[in-house]
Amino acid sequence: MKKKILAVTLAMAMVSSLVACSGSTTKTQESASASNEESQDSTESKGTLVMATNAEFPPYEYHDGSDDQIVGIDAEIAAAIADKLGYTLEIEDIAFDSVIPEVTSGKADFGMAGMTVTEERKKSVNFSDSYATAVQVVIVPEDSDITSIDDLSGKIIGVQSGTTGDLYATDDFGDENVERYNKGMEAVQALSQGKIDAVIIDNEPAKVFVQETEGLKILDSAYAEEQYAIAIALDNTELLSEVNAALAELKADGTIDSIVSKYITAD
Ligand code: GLN
Repeated sequence: MKKKILAVTLAMAMVSSLVACSGSTTKTQESASASNEESQDSTESKGTLVMATNAEFPPYEYHDGSDDQIVGIDAEIAAAIADKLGYTLEIEDIAFDSVIPEVTSGKADFGMAGMTVTEERKKSVNFSDSYATAVQVVIVPEDSDITSIDDLSGKIIGVQSGTTGDLYATDDFGDENVERYNKGMEAVQALSQGKIDAVIIDNEPAKVFVQETEGLKILDSAYAEEQYAIAIALDNTELLSEVNAALAELKADGTIDSIVSKYITAD
């Protein structure tokens, strides 16, 4: 699948980041997120919903605090969905590459990992309605001679393995120019050590990583615009409709917006 490079201004990209939410659960910790009137009415939990994620992707999912809780927009939206549907949420932290296999094998009920909807992934899983828009951006050293996407030609590009950034970089610039890392932050560290020339990654984690690392910047021209959604097994259409119904309510009542604005400040 060939992707077209889309020149999107970064300003637009930032404005289009609509996601959000609050919630926190650790791997083995069960959390039926707090106060939701509807679920308080229901007596017992319908059971546990297992969410597969890769908690290395701030502000969507990451470890925080001494208790090592998984927090972030996805964690909180998932908690709100589970709460609304009367389930207890359990979060499983695994490699990003393993999230879809975990869902297709039935070990997890859904995957939520800042995951972009792609035609390729749709062959393995169903996606819920989208709950956020994102863009792929390019991180370079502050003094880099790379000023646009075209300048990436022939450069060594770092990506998180199995992500859409990996896919675009490989398709557009060739496998030999792509360095794959297990975590986005590892690619960013390699960049700051001068081992690679650029990193292609989603805009919100990019902002967090650049803020935490000296001497890097995000290019103004962004790469491709994408939609994030929740991955569910192809045969579990019942959960898909439940999740879509819950998402629609959480969008309508402002819960999603408030979760997003807790983690992403307009700038
Ligand atoms: N949005 C990207 C993808 O779906 C990256 C997700 C991630 O690294 N968690 O491939």
